[in-house]
Amino acid sequence: MNDLVLRFEGFEPEEGLRRSAEAAVKALCARVPDARGQIVFSRLWLSLRAVVNIEVSPRRLEVTLEEDDAVIVARMLIRLRRFARLARWERQGVERPCGFCDCARFVYVPRVRQDTENAGGRPLQILFAASCGEMDALVCAECGHVEWFVSDPDELPVGAHGTTELHHRPGAPYR
Ligand SMILES: [Zn+2]
Repeated sequence: MNDLVLRFEGFEPEEGLRRSAEAAVKALCARVPDARGQIVFSRLWLSLRAVVNIEVSPRRLEVTLEEDDAVIVARMLIRLRRFARLARWERQGVERPCGFCDCARFVYVPRVRQDTENAGGRPLQILFAASCGEMDALVCAECGHVEWFVSDPDELPVGAHGTTELHHRPGAPYR
């Protein structure tokens, strides 16, 4: 856990920024305890820069983000969550076989795109109206069944855009 270093270079971060960045690093370490490398924040004129350089052998994440203070940690968390999920699956395998055909082989498609006139397309989002909820797909290599993963579930606006928060209840009767 100490192998993943978070640094603020040349400026003193606000308490909220420091806390949310630390929480993001902690969440990554919980998912892949052997993650190593560094995340360095620095101040630009009107925004922040985060240089992420992390290794979960043999996979590496190198990305530079330049965003407003208000969103930079959330954007970084999307990358970290996606990276951690893939690293974990590569290391330990996918938790269970396909629920439809029992096949054990999958194809992972990060950041699924929808076709537009723009070259490269636009990321498919679960909520059209909100600027969050990019979709990653785990596709069964045999029957094609797709499991979807939203890249920033903690950012989904619960109670807005028709969304509702629900909970698993152990032992609830199946009807
Ligand atoms: Zn299948």
